[in-house]
Amino acid sequence: MRVFDRLFIDNDWCDSVTGRRFAAVDPATEEVIAELPLAGADDVEAAVRSSQRAAAAWRREAPERRGELLDRLADVIEDHRDVLAEMETRDMGKPLRESHANVTRSVRTCRYYAGAVDKLLGDSIPVGHQGYNFTVHEPLGVTAHITPWNYPFANACRSLPTALAAGCTVILKPASQTCLTTLMLGDLCRQAGFPPGVVNVVTGSGAEAGQALARHPAVRGITFTGSVDTGRRIMQFAAEHIRPVVLELGGKNPQVVFADADVDAALAQTLRGAFTNAGQVCTSVSRVLVERPLYAEYVERLAARVAAYTVGPGMEDPDIGPLVSQEHWTTVARYADQARAEGARLVTGGDRPAGLPRGYFFAPTVFDQVAPDMRIAREEVFGLLLSVIPFDTDDQALAISNALPLGLTSGVFTRDIGRAMRFARDLQAGMVWINEWFQSPVQVPHGGIKESGLGREQGMLALANYTQVKDIAIRF
Ligand code: NAP
Repeated sequence: MRVFDRLFIDNDWCDSVTGRRFAAVDPATEEVIAELPLAGADDVEAAVRSSQRAAAAWRREAPERRGELLDRLADVIEDHRDVLAEMETRDMGKPLRESHANVTRSVRTCRYYAGAVDKLLGDSIPVGHQGYNFTVHEPLGVTAHITPWNYPFANACRSLPTALAAGCTVILKPASQTCLTTLMLGDLCRQAGFPPGVVNVVTGSGAEAGQALARHPAVRGITFTGSVDTGRRIMQFAAEHIRPVVLELGGKNPQVVFADADVDAALAQTLRGAFTNAGQVCTSVSRVLVERPLYAEYVERLAARVAAYTVGPGMEDPDIGPLVSQEHWTTVARYADQARAEGARLVTGGDRPAGLPRGYFFAPTVFDQVAPDMRIAREEVFGLLLSVIPFDTDDQALAISNALPLGLTSGVFTRDIGRAMRFARDLQAGMVWINEWFQSPVQVPHGGIKESGLGREQGMLALANYTQVKDIAIRF
């Protein structure tokens, strides 16, 4: 596996001015697979200057040309599918088939925005007989894209094509745990034919490189995906120079299952929702609320399925791979201990699985008899711990679902259409799924309400993240 282990600036590879490096670790083996540059403020300055230089020409590029390049990027990504998937799995831990699915999604996103470049329409506004008034959507210029470690490639490819389609240049700052496929994305953009500086990639810590990027006055828009705490800081940084932000933050998402639901379908979505990517998904099912008459049967069936899951290195394509890092393993284990201490019943899992002494493996875990006020029911764990909570009435299920400051996704499983629609209306979340989970293809808006975020990615709506409206008035 060829690793790109330098900064990607101006379509070129360069060493960090700091000369410092940090390790990329395979979470399945704990082996160091690369040493990457730990960029500092000077490196960020170089990336921003390059991006500024490129922005002037890129904003004037014909829409068809921008679309052509995005289509070519999709082709190049597809051509490198196997190496990208393997690299993602080795760097992040997820099962190989999931890495492939993430690559497929990224290709689709590039193609979607390739087709969107010439559909950024303005308005014509009636202002009377003696004049015309119309709007144009102008690109912001240099944009920063700071991403988390759970979907490194797919998250980079969620906002990059949108910004490029809108005529902005892009500086990517991947999470320190998972930089490899984002660095490779820089190279794939070069291969696709994007001019120097249109896409730059800077690796380094959030506290240093991330912060220098987010605070840089020449960065005119920031797209951040990550935790609520960091999101809050990013918003403050954006305020320093009055820039728009897109914040895609955490969730503690409830799936409400009524006794009248198609139980097999609900169960399948609970399992998929809770344990895809080892539960390290912002939109995962982290609380499943089950109506009392179904509760005991649901927990029993859930436990049997979860206990049968295979856990192992992502390269062997098990049901579940390792958690991303030792630090995250410790966080998850701490939540599991705390849940036990607070009186939740451990149904299955709860610790390192037998036979895997190395690697950041944790068994898929189900807790039942979880009370809504326990920490495990209130805070985002972001990995492998599913809380099952009983409820008796519709109002109670809604109250528990909406009680938290987060509101990313939510779902309701019932055959009663009236009830489903009432829940769709009353659930406080940016996305509501009825008898479904993870229904967020590229053409639909993705994002949360309350502390789960601000703005939307995906779909045509997201192009507005990278443009400003200019109003032009003519009198004659
Ligand atoms: P994080 O700790 O907030 O880090 C996210 C990114 O921000 C990383 O690249 C990080 O760099 C950088 N960063 C950290 N501090 C910074 C600072 N002061 N200034 C600028 N950048 C800074 O989040 P995470 O642990 O990687 O990701 C997990 C979280 O992401 C979860 O809450 C999850 O729900 C959320 N998430 C949300 C979505 C969504 O679409 N809503 C999608 C995926 C994940 P370092 O890695 O170098 O610290």
